[in-house]
Amino acid sequence: MKPFSPISHGYWRLMDWNLSPQDIASLVEASLDLGIYTIDHADIYGDYRCEAAFGQGFGLLAPSVRQKVQLVSKCGIKLLTASAPERRIKHYDYSYDHIVQSVDNSLQRLGAEKLDVLLLHRPSPLLQPEEVARAFSDLQASGKVLDFGVSNFTPGQFDALQSTCEQPLVTNQVQISPLHVDYLFDGGQDHALMHDYAPMAWSPLGGGRLFAPKSERDHAVADLFQRLSDVHNLPIDTLAYAWTRKLPSNPTVIVGSGKLERLESAVKALNFDFPLEDWYAVLQASRGHGIA
Ligand code: NAP
Repeated sequence: MKPFSPISHGYWRLMDWNLSPQDIASLVEASLDLGIYTIDHADIYGDYRCEAAFGQGFGLLAPSVRQKVQLVSKCGIKLLTASAPERRIKHYDYSYDHIVQSVDNSLQRLGAEKLDVLLLHRPSPLLQPEEVARAFSDLQASGKVLDFGVSNFTPGQFDALQSTCEQPLVTNQVQISPLHVDYLFDGGQDHALMHDYAPMAWSPLGGGRLFAPKSERDHAVADLFQRLSDVHNLPIDTLAYAWTRKLPSNPTVIVGSGKLERLESAVKALNFDFPLEDWYAVLQASRGHGIA
């Protein structure tokens, strides 16, 4: 599989960005110029509207430009939504039919011929590995999806699915940021290292909490980042991405903003090696205690 770009771009919040199709096309081109070619979607983003809105801009791009984009999308969550009035409760669905139908829907909305990577959005206790494996094989054979992965899975859930799928699962998309460090201690990173895949780090700025801290812990981390920003003369977001990028599992961090200057700030992180003691100071602020 083509590796993820070190910085990815997530379109979860697209409906808040007020971008025209031409703005979206320009944003994709500008992100490609910055080396950001991995674009993250999910069927449900924006109440099922983000993929279609993106597709309108994506369709304005020349095929040669579109080919440079690595499209990631997800399936499996069924939201309560006006477009499916028969649903009575939010739930997960990893049936063969739903996975295949969801990919068809995503391709149609995105205006794309294939997904580079399809992720199962969240683990379900009812997930039948054999059924998912059959869907993956058929989707790959039809050329609709090149590679497959998961999101928010524990290492055990990943292994249970992998033991049945012939395709190697290429990633686990998980929450990692200076405000959310569970992945470093719950076996997630060890699993990625053992199986040689790069995780995708979602909400790498804590969903913006680094700039609008809520809890006492958020404030401690945000204050520290402000001091580090002054010392290293770099923006806080650049430093936050660099902190996560220092992990040996080589995560791609998914930028969640539609502003080009934020993408430029993220790319700067690739040239900054977070100093070791500063890195541990962030970890300490995040956990509320030092190491043993
Ligand atoms: P994030 O980067 O943690 O948060 C983005 C928010 O931070 C935006 O509201 C943005 O506002 C704000 N922000 C960024 N830079 C800022 C700055 N310098 N100053 C002030 N505010 C700033 O990322 P996220 O959007 O939560 O998540 C990123 C992507 O991860 C999503 O798009 C999606 O693709 C993926 N995701 C996946 C899952 C999953 O379960 N797999 C879950 C959540 C997200 P502005 O718009 O003003 O920049």
